[in-house]
Amino acid sequence: MSGSPIDGTVLVVNAGSSSLKYQVLDPVTEEVIADGLAERIGESTSRVKHWYRGSEAVSDEPLADHEAAIATVLELFKADGVDVADSGLSAVGHRVVHGGRTFFEPTLIDERVSSEIERISSLAPLHNPANLVGIEAVTALLPDVPAVAVFDTAFFHDLPDAAATYAMDAGVAERYAIRRYGFHGTSHEYVSRRAAQVLGRDWGELNQIVLHLGNGASMSAIAGGRPLDTTMGMTPLEGLVMGTRTGDVDAGIVFQLARVAGMSIDDIDTLFNKQSGLKGMCGENDFRALLERVEAGDEAAALAYRVYLHRLRRYIGAYMVQLGRVDTVVFTAGVGENAAPVRQDSLADLEMFGIEVDPERNAVRGDEPRVISTDASTVTVLVVPTNEELAIARSAVEVARAAR
Ligand code: ADP
Repeated sequence: MSGSPIDGTVLVVNAGSSSLKYQVLDPVTEEVIADGLAERIGESTSRVKHWYRGSEAVSDEPLADHEAAIATVLELFKADGVDVADSGLSAVGHRVVHGGRTFFEPTLIDERVSSEIERISSLAPLHNPANLVGIEAVTALLPDVPAVAVFDTAFFHDLPDAAATYAMDAGVAERYAIRRYGFHGTSHEYVSRRAAQVLGRDWGELNQIVLHLGNGASMSAIAGGRPLDTTMGMTPLEGLVMGTRTGDVDAGIVFQLARVAGMSIDDIDTLFNKQSGLKGMCGENDFRALLERVEAGDEAAALAYRVYLHRLRRYIGAYMVQLGRVDTVVFTAGVGENAAPVRQDSLADLEMFGIEVDPERNAVRGDEPRVISTDASTVTVLVVPTNEELAIARSAVEVARAAR
């Protein structure tokens, strides 16, 4: 096994209800050796796209379930000359969305852990069951490789109680574990640590606002490495306007839609999570296409963009007050890393608060972390590409090593 190209590497798995993303990477050199995506699992049109050291392979075999998807991925590796089951893989790292109150550290998976993840599933019915299916499928095929769960909620486990508590009947909240958990924690932690590194500062001494703007979007206020607040709540629905999610809404809308429109709870769930946000307002959730439409004078797209920015600026203001002193504002994920107008417009006219984006620096594109504020800006504005897979791989290898 030694000398195998994946010796000492980690397989990172992110399983959705009908998809499975994976990466094999070296947690030390950060080299990505393979990555891929199995889509439409359970349908007749399934497909696996697999990249190994720069070359792509595609399988159009129907995939009955996640185990079949993993089996196909392992076959594709065999075609590359790699027997994953016997190549010295250090660990498998599974992204798990909800850790509830139980899990706030990367955790070695055994039967007890699996059943607890299942128990927590009622808090994240769209995500945790799929994560669990991924765990079971990989464990069935790679039983000898330590499997580690890394939770999206973990970083926000110690949110101050004022930020974590909903203003509702305390007994009901307690009984049903209703509180604000926060998500994208792996990314918020990774990016804020990386920002400190880029500035040559200590993570523990910086006050940061992190904007993770992808299709799902969230923001956090981090004081000296500890999260003070975040925009997502009991589920990833709360907070910012997202690609297809409403973000914050008046809960009274749910009552109205149920009573007046006769919609079921499942209908409203789908409406709020899948048919709202930018897509709901203007039919478009790809930010590139949205910006092109705004540029072309499309009024629905322009309104959607204004609503998106309005919400961002509301939270930027809130987090500035909560932090008191802000050292950095950090943009990350698909929109945050690539959409220069969003960075410029969300921080426009904040010079009196010491925030000034430099248009030329902001226009620079690239994969490296970079400063986009002017030299006069007292707050340093950064673009820092996120890398959740790397963060998961590092955690997984650490836990697997400690368990040996
Ligand atoms: P997620 O992981 O939540 O699916 P990503 O972080 O991959 O999301 O971000 C996806 C979003 O990033 C999409 O809305 C996409 O349009 C946007 N995006 C990607 N590249 C660009 C770009 N060059 N300009 C503007 N938006 C972009």
